[in-house]
Amino acid sequence: MKYIVATLFLWASCLIAATGQEETERVSDGCKRCNHRGVVECKRHDEADIALEKEVDFCAIAARCEDCGGTFQVDCGFCIGGPDSLPLERRRGRIAGILKGGVPAEKLLERPLPWVRTPHFDLVVDVEYLKNGSKRLDAHEFLHHLARESEAAASMLDQHLKAKPHHYGRAKIYFWESLADHKKVNRELLGTNTESGMKLYGPKPAASSWTGAKGLQGKALNVAANGVHIGIHLLLSSAFRGEWIGDKKAGWFDVGAAHWYEEQRFQRTATYCVDEAIADLNYKNGQWRTVIKSELAKRKETLLPELSKELSGTLWEEEHALSWSLYDWLVTEHPDSVKAFLMGFKDGKEMRDICRKELDMTLRQVEDAWRSWVAETYPARNPKARKRL
Ligand SMILES: [Zn+2]
Ligand SMILES: [Zn+2]
Ligand SMILES: [Zn+2]
Ligand SMILES: [Zn+2]
Repeated sequence: MKYIVATLFLWASCLIAATGQEETERVSDGCKRCNHRGVVECKRHDEADIALEKEVDFCAIAARCEDCGGTFQVDCGFCIGGPDSLPLERRRGRIAGILKGGVPAEKLLERPLPWVRTPHFDLVVDVEYLKNGSKRLDAHEFLHHLARESEAAASMLDQHLKAKPHHYGRAKIYFWESLADHKKVNRELLGTNTESGMKLYGPKPAASSWTGAKGLQGKALNVAANGVHIGIHLLLSSAFRGEWIGDKKAGWFDVGAAHWYEEQRFQRTATYCVDEAIADLNYKNGQWRTVIKSELAKRKETLLPELSKELSGTLWEEEHALSWSLYDWLVTEHPDSVKAFLMGFKDGKEMRDICRKELDMTLRQVEDAWRSWVAETYPARNPKARKRL
């Protein structure tokens, strides 16, 4: 009898244990509705939205979604959780932290702003809309276009400089529809009292522009091209060591590079920065292959002794195009030397010395090589420029 009682007791306790185990497993394993994840998709975003959001590291507009806080997932609600519940909570906390930290202009203007973070940039676009052909893009839609263009240009620069995003200071780029906000940001954050587009070079690079300015005119394509161009200036100034080369007899490199990456994305270069030249320039409509080809064929005098000593702010409009072409040659024919040029300029070296050390060429040899490369490779017709984003 004793034996039977003992067996019964054992059997009973096994039963209790099994039920208890079932209970815990069912809870932590979600339910059928959430596919046993504990979380389901947030209904406020479709698949296209989510694909777009995946291109950026953070989007303030997505993060302000009241349901999911930018995670695109919410608790299942039918069960008390599953394996994805805790990771979702952590992700939500991380995103909320970035949103709370915000960008400096949000504190200054005391209101939330539309902005995104990418590996190289914090991009802020405060507009109602920008024109894109016959359509309109709101701030959020445009931000994602701008992020895509700027990052595409920045990753080309990474390859040329053999750099990773952490080798630069993350560049802040602001675009404002309100001239008053732009001026306030210039004054309070960039330290200059001016209406024109301003840039802060160095380890913490930043720039602010007004979208109503000449050349931008509230057009999405122009603003994006401007953002790409400015972004390259900012990244160059902070790459490896915070130092602007535009005032160091390396204007051709600083300006040429900014035009070059802009041209790569848009097949046209339309941006002239205020510290480079007077506003309102549009040399040969920003399409320079054919004009440089014929100009160089015509002009017999050597150009580099002078061009190589100009600062960004002392280049004439035609010299902008020559600088672009010289950078085109360097980046195409000697991609492995681009970083050495940049860092040589940051160190205050002259172009002739960098050429001798890096390329084993005199300035004269570089000029000849560049000219013959242009003559051989530049087409008789310019590629078609992009019409919209
Ligand atoms: Zn569930
Ligand atoms: Zn977004
Ligand atoms: Zn949501
Ligand atoms: Zn520029």
